[in-house]
Amino acid sequence: MLKPRPAIRNLKEYRPPLAGRTGLRLDFNENTQGVSTRVLEKLRTIDAEQLTRYPEREPVETLIAGFLQLEPEQLLLTNGVDEAIQLLCHTYLDTGDRALVVVPTFAMYELLAASTGAEVIPVPAGSNFCFPLESLLHSLDSRTRLIAIANPNNPTGAVAPSDQLLLLARAAPQAAILIDEAYFEFFGQTVLNEIANLPNLFVARTFSKAYGMAGLRAGILAGPATQIRLLRKAASPYNVNAIALACLPEAMRDHQFVDRYVAEVRHGRARLQNLLADLGIPYWPSQANFVLAQFGGCASQFVAAMAQHNILVRDRSCDYGCAGCVRITLGTTEQMDRVLAVMKSILNELRNRERALA
Ligand SMILES: *Cc1c(COP(=O)(O)O)cnc(C)c1O
Repeated sequence: MLKPRPAIRNLKEYRPPLAGRTGLRLDFNENTQGVSTRVLEKLRTIDAEQLTRYPEREPVETLIAGFLQLEPEQLLLTNGVDEAIQLLCHTYLDTGDRALVVVPTFAMYELLAASTGAEVIPVPAGSNFCFPLESLLHSLDSRTRLIAIANPNNPTGAVAPSDQLLLLARAAPQAAILIDEAYFEFFGQTVLNEIANLPNLFVARTFSKAYGMAGLRAGILAGPATQIRLLRKAASPYNVNAIALACLPEAMRDHQFVDRYVAEVRHGRARLQNLLADLGIPYWPSQANFVLAQFGGCASQFVAAMAQHNILVRDRSCDYGCAGCVRITLGTTEQMDRVLAVMKSILNELRNRERALA
């Protein structure tokens, strides 16, 4: 009988609820507006010639490195951040090694680290999901070979101070430190400029969120040149497809599209947080394009009622410390007008029903 490696046999299944997502999709933190018109125009020019050739990643890498003020040797384009995480795990983790992840967080860290046979150590976030620097420092040992941190974190929207991230990187020279800045555009703070100073610091960015290109699968992994050289060896030379490569320069050049969208999302974030406060629903102040709120016992009813109005939001009850929590992605101002009105009426109705039962 053909047997997989034990690490794969024991892996938890991760099946995001992707089926039948019709309506306003506020469940996966995607861009709800679309994509830059410059990208759409570029897509219309893709011809057979571009499809028949193997994709050439390097010129686009050089260009994007320039945008980020990095050397091309410090950057690898990846098939989404997911592949960046996979490459880091593949490059640094072995059976018996340890990976630290702050929980709750993005599911892919645990999954991809565990698939190598390494042991995943969940380090619980502090009160109000604050960054658990002390616990992380206490969890370090000679077997710690990877630490993955989303900043801002998903699903909490919480952030870690840059100086604490750098302190951790210095305290764990034996480990690769991944700072996943998938939501950088909505936050504005970064440690990207520090990769030249730290030999074990990596920063990931994605085109899936602010840029609106989740379907194209493109991400950025930046890190020390000597380490990026190794990761490049571990990657397929064709990991990013030709269509994505053609679109990325246009996406990067259209600052206006991203800036405008981010401004709308930030405005929507303030409005949603105000509404939650008015309604007495606890939430965690977010620096990302979503807000996590505590609906307690009526979380699943709330999610179902929103779906009845064709608005999809995500129940995060299964995440560590998130029982009763729902994550709501922010949309444009016009979309948020509707979302907030629908939320108000649903929550009033749920309260009236509760009162009637009491
Ligand atoms: C959405 C998300 C990503 C994006 O991953 P891609 O593979 O680039 O689509 C990465 N990290 C976090 C924390 C996310 O929430």
